Amino acid sequence: MIARADHSISRAQISPNALKVLYRLKDAGFQAFLVGGSVRDLLLGVQPKDFDIATNALPEEIRRVFRNCRLIGRRFRLAHVHFGDEIIEVATFRAAAAPPEVDDEDHREVDDASGRILRDNVYGTIDEDVWRRDFTANSLYYNIADFSVWDYADGVEDVRARVLRLIGDPEQRYREDPVRLLRAARFAAKLGFTLHAATRAPMSALAPLLAGVPAARLFDETLKLFLSGHAVASFESLREFELLPQLLPAVAAELAQAPDGPAARLLALGLASTDQRVRADRAVTPTFLFAVLLYGPILRLAAEKVAAGQPEPQALLEATDAVLLAQVRRVAVPKRFTLPLRELLVLQPRFERRDGRRALSLLHHPRFRAAYDFLLLRAEAGLVPAELASWWTEIQTLSADERLERVAQLAPAASAGGESADGEPRRRRRRRRRRGGGGGGGGDGGAAGPAA
Ligand code: ATP
Ligand code: MG
Repeated sequence: MIARADHSISRAQISPNALKVLYRLKDAGFQAFLVGGSVRDLLLGVQPKDFDIATNALPEEIRRVFRNCRLIGRRFRLAHVHFGDEIIEVATFRAAAAPPEVDDEDHREVDDASGRILRDNVYGTIDEDVWRRDFTANSLYYNIADFSVWDYADGVEDVRARVLRLIGDPEQRYREDPVRLLRAARFAAKLGFTLHAATRAPMSALAPLLAGVPAARLFDETLKLFLSGHAVASFESLREFELLPQLLPAVAAELAQAPDGPAARLLALGLASTDQRVRADRAVTPTFLFAVLLYGPILRLAAEKVAAGQPEPQALLEATDAVLLAQVRRVAVPKRFTLPLRELLVLQPRFERRDGRRALSLLHHPRFRAAYDFLLLRAEAGLVPAELASWWTEIQTLSADERLERVAQLAPAASAGGESADGEPRRRRRRRRRRGGGGGGGGDGGAAGPAA
C-alpha cells in the first residue's frame, strides 16, 4: 500500500462525477476504489479517458445507492452511473481465474480445450479482484477512504519503469482471453511502454488464438487501437507483434506484396491524419478508417478484375464488396459503416470526370464530403494528380454560376482519364509537377472525416 504522501495522485485530477460515486459508496458503508487505466494514467500524469470504480457492493446494492444507475452486461454484470454525457462504470470485485478443480459451474466456465474464460461472474474481495486484471500497470486501486494506492502486483514500479507486464503466467493469461494480445499491443503503442520479455515472448505464437474471438469484440478493440489518437503507433505494434495477419489479413498481405507502394503510402498518411484529427478533437469514423485500411487490397483486386476484362466501375464495386465481406467475418464492422464506405470508394472515379453538370451534381451527393476527404488522401499518396484534388477544393468555394462556367471550360477530353489501379501513370505525372515546385494534396487531408 502506498500512502497518500508517497504518490502523485490528487483528487483535483479526478472527474467530479467519479468522486461523487466514490464518496457515495463509501458513505453507504462500502469499499470504493478508482481502478484500472485511470489510476495508471494519473500516475503517468496523463488525463484519463474514463474513470472506472471497483467496490465490494453487489450490483443490486450499487443500484440502491444511485438513482441514475443502470445494470448492464451479461458476461460481466456492471453498474453504469449516468451524469449527463459522462458514465461512471462501477464493478463489483470478482475472484481471479480459479484453478480448474475449484471451478464452480454456476459462476464461471473455462473452455477445457482452449483455456478461454467463457463466463466470469463470481464475486470476490479486492485481493482476489487484482489477479484477474491483465497488466500490473492496470491493477492499481486508489482508495477513497484514505487516498492511498493499493498495489498488490507491483504495478507502481512497472509504471515508473514504463514496463507492461502481464500478471501471472503470460501464456495462460493470453489463452484465457486472447484479446489481451491486442491489449498488449495497444498499451505499448498508447503509453510508449516496453513489453516485459516474458509478456512479449509468447505473443507471435499465440496470435492465431485471435481467430476464436467473437468478431464483434474485435471490432471494439480495433476502434480502440485506431481511433484513440495513436493509430500509427498501434499499427506498428500490431506488425511488430505479428498480430496484423490475424486482425486485418488483407492489409498484412498487401503490405507484404508492396511495402512501399502507393496503397501503403495512403495507409500511412491516412493513419497519421486520423491521429491529428483526434488530437484536434475533430470527428473520426470507422467508415473512413476502414476505407484507409482496406483501399490497398481493394485496388489490387480491382486491377486484377480490370485485367480480366471487367469495366472499371464494376471491378471497383465488386472488389470492394469482396474485400469487405472477408474482413467483416474477422472484424464485425457494422453495415452502418460498410455501406457508406462502399459509396465513398465507388464515388472516387467520378471525381475524374469534371466536365458537365454530372460532375457538379457530385457536390450534392450525401457522401461528397467523405469522398472528397478520401480524394485528398489519394492525391497526397500520389494515386491521383494533386491538381485534380485542388480543382475539387476550389470548385467548392465558387458560386453556382461560376461552377457552371468552370465545367463548361473543360472539353470532355480535358478531364482526367480513369484511374489506373496501380497508380503508375499518376505517379509519373506527380513527379513532374513536384519538380515544378507544386505538390501537396491541399486541404487538411481530412482522414477519418465525418463520413457516416
Ligand atoms: P484505457 O485507457 O484504454 O481505458 P484501461 O486500462 O482503462 O485503458 P479498459 O478496457 O477500460 O482499459 O479496462 C479497465 C480495466 O479492466 C483494465 O485496466 C484492467 O484492469 C481490466 N481489464 C480490462 N480488460 C481486461 C482483460 N481482457 N483481461 C483482464 N483485465 C482486463
Ligand atoms: Mg478505461
